[in-house]
Amino acid sequence: MLSFEHQFATLPEPLWVACQPTPVAQPSLIAFNDALGAQLGMQTRPDDATLAQWFSGNQLPPSAEPRALGYAGHQFGNFVPQLGDGRALLLGEVVNQQGERRDVQLKGSGRTPFSRGGDGRAPLGPVLREYLVGEFMAAVGVPTTRALAAVSTGERVVRQMAEPGAVLTRVASSHIRVGTFQFAAVRRDESALKALADHVIARHYPEAANADDPYLALLEAVTARQAALVARWMSLGFIHGVMNTDNCSIAGETIDYGPCAFMEQFDPQKVYSSIDQGGRYAFDNQPGIAQWNLARFAETLLPLMRVEGDAAVEQATEVLRGFTARFGAEQRRLHADKLGLAPESDRAVALMEALEIQMHQGRMDMTATFDALTHYAQVLSADTSAHSQKEALLALTTQPAGLTAWLADWENAQQASQQSERLDAMRHANPVVIPRNHRIQEVIDAAVEGDFAPFHTLLAAVTQPFDESEEARRLAAPATESEQVLRTFCGT
Ligand code: AMP
Ligand code: MG
Repeated sequence: MLSFEHQFATLPEPLWVACQPTPVAQPSLIAFNDALGAQLGMQTRPDDATLAQWFSGNQLPPSAEPRALGYAGHQFGNFVPQLGDGRALLLGEVVNQQGERRDVQLKGSGRTPFSRGGDGRAPLGPVLREYLVGEFMAAVGVPTTRALAAVSTGERVVRQMAEPGAVLTRVASSHIRVGTFQFAAVRRDESALKALADHVIARHYPEAANADDPYLALLEAVTARQAALVARWMSLGFIHGVMNTDNCSIAGETIDYGPCAFMEQFDPQKVYSSIDQGGRYAFDNQPGIAQWNLARFAETLLPLMRVEGDAAVEQATEVLRGFTARFGAEQRRLHADKLGLAPESDRAVALMEALEIQMHQGRMDMTATFDALTHYAQVLSADTSAHSQKEALLALTTQPAGLTAWLADWENAQQASQQSERLDAMRHANPVVIPRNHRIQEVIDAAVEGDFAPFHTLLAAVTQPFDESEEARRLAAPATESEQVLRTFCGT
């Protein structure tokens, strides 16, 4: 049974507002994450009908106390002083079996005082997308919110067209965002701001409490988590798509999967989101944007810092500058893993830069390239004939001469490092299956027609992303020209 606590509710209003979900017509369970449920203390699985009642919000689980959380945010660079949970409700916190506090939230559960013009609902498509991509991220070890349940509502929501509605139950280290701090700061509510910061330190960064200046230490800790997170994203070709400050988690998890996508053909300037017309959140811009978001976070913390005025600004700026070095160090480590080189290898940086040029110029699929390179490394180390693996790799590029030259350099570097120890790390840095855009679209198209089998098949594959079965290989294949999905939509 879920046993909810309500620490966030000890923080002052208006950081939260009590609010009930709006019942839905006909809740029906699409998916429930048994393993995550067990981690949260649900030792026996309630029947589907009960789960559908709970996780649609029609009849909340015992001890849940629904609240909408307030937050502000910079959306595409423009400040909006009041956003907040317009269609989400925090049911409470559960301390999991590892002793970690986790938020459990309904998304799509109806209007709240923060809904502005919105209907408080979520269409089925984005709910399934968030479920698939979030669970994939968890499977490859990228910090992320998790999906506990998806329930269809039996109601339609009207977006571009009328679509089936759904509710996602999401689990997070917390739903506190940079925008939550901005919400308190813009109201000049210093006591709410301090209570929030102290809550975050106790909950996420307890070591900061012992620092000379806990709030500066908090900024440093969040900066480190965000730098590591964005490096992880990019190592998989992930483009978040809406890195607004309200979608930037203080705990350093990936949150709010909207028009996100994994890029296929490598292109540093790649954008998928239909609403990102200026390319603000393009693939290569993500570290700079994370740093910009952290600067907005730093601004909110200045009034709490031990030193005042220019000295506080200087200290905070110094911490923010540190983002670049942290991001670079994390990226070097990840790149070495992806290339099967030792972490201390001085060749990884140049080799990765050169491979990125090859992937870009040769229109190579990023995931398939690293998967094929991993196979090639495996056969090279086994000293068997590597001919067909090399051919498979060269088949991915339109520029085989350039890639052949690069491979010669890489093979040299490989031989210089302890290959056998590196192969395992290389495999784990290079998933076989990712949730490809066209596969997600297929799943959504079928689900809208009432067929959830493709969703369950894809979910099973992306949560075993290193599996090499035939089914995995089928789902791993890049989109053909006609299958490609080049635009993704928020669909909120
Ligand atoms: P998102 O794009 O999902 O990150 O949401 C941005 C803001 O819009 C948040 O404040 C959401 O709560 C709000 N929002 C998004 N969709 C809806 C909706 N259907 N009804 C009410 N508020 C919404
Ligand atoms: Mg959001």
